[in-house]
Amino acid sequence: MNVASQRKPHPLGTHRVLEPPGAMPQNAAKLNNTPVAYEGELLCDVDVLNIDSASFRQIAGVCGGDAARIAEHIAEIVRVHGKMHNPVTGSGGMFIGTIRATGERIASLVSLTLTPLHIDEVTRVCVDTGRVWVRGTAILFASSLWAALPSDIDENVALAVLDVAGAPAQTLRLCKEGQTIAIIGVDGKSGILACAQAKARVGTSGRVIGVAPSNQTLTAKLLIEHGYVDAFIVADARDALGTSEALARIAPELADVTINCVNVPGTELSSILATKDRGTIYFFSMSTSFTAAALGAEGVGKDVTMIVGNGYARDHAQIALQTLREHPHIHAHFKRTYAARQ
Ligand code: NAP
Repeated sequence: MNVASQRKPHPLGTHRVLEPPGAMPQNAAKLNNTPVAYEGELLCDVDVLNIDSASFRQIAGVCGGDAARIAEHIAEIVRVHGKMHNPVTGSGGMFIGTIRATGERIASLVSLTLTPLHIDEVTRVCVDTGRVWVRGTAILFASSLWAALPSDIDENVALAVLDVAGAPAQTLRLCKEGQTIAIIGVDGKSGILACAQAKARVGTSGRVIGVAPSNQTLTAKLLIEHGYVDAFIVADARDALGTSEALARIAPELADVTINCVNVPGTELSSILATKDRGTIYFFSMSTSFTAAALGAEGVGKDVTMIVGNGYARDHAQIALQTLREHPHIHAHFKRTYAARQ
């Protein structure tokens, strides 16, 4: 009899924790991924993983961008930990699958870092999108959030959008009419959706300034051409002074709200310097360091409110999917990038 089956099932999944004692599923080193549903759990057949961008970038880096090595690396992490919890970045991702008992197609809305996952085989890796096709199973706890896949949006598009659903939902909450909003990493998945929400919120009296390493990507061109950004700064956000000075030239008042959507470490200070005193920074990026943000703000004497990018916000899935429905150009872009790569 395994350890988990000796414990009473808990809605938060603690009965699945194998190591260390007392850990919750998210911070556990190892979960019991036995593909049998205990009371209150849902057993799901998993087809596709959307690996978190910071995690996939790190894995692709150590595997030299080779799809077969990436597949083996991911399978090994899952073998060791019973979940897709990248030990370097600490981040996970989400899955698409089918609830075995009901046949319902769903996307998980809780991180793979706390989801018991068993992989029989990795069948394909898309190096460009961080999409990984598998034959496997996952367990959702009684407390785990999930969403039925919408009938009007391609499954792979929905997965890409739902993975970053917290970003547009929090942007909607944080931005107000007339404000200046800076979005760093604006041409990625979360950046685009945040940008659409920010532009709608600030109206014609406010402005949205996008920051990304290039204005020549298809996404950057889309955001500029369709007026989602009022200005676009080409910058490496790891260069704090260069980025913030470029922003200050366009918006001397600095940003009321800065939204950080990058997938690389070392961009905390550019976000802090881009934001006005008493402004707000939403660190959606999983590469954010609490220490770098806290000490960085102190070091430059900036009184800013810094928000950890909680992956969950009430109604975030509906808000994210609705963002696509309300912005056909953005929806078309997601379809081109994700739906076509099945
Ligand atoms: P993504 O689609 O890969 O986008 C990342 C963006 O960052 C791209 O626009 C990229 O530009 C830009 N970027 C990379 N290096 C940069 C630099 N040095 N300076 C400026 N921009 C830079 O990623 P995503 O899926 O939107 O995810 C974004 C972040 O959110 C990741 O860190 C991810 O781990 C995190 N995330 C957080 C949660 C949460 O719950 N808080 C959930 C999911 C994901 P290029 O494409 O031109 O390189």
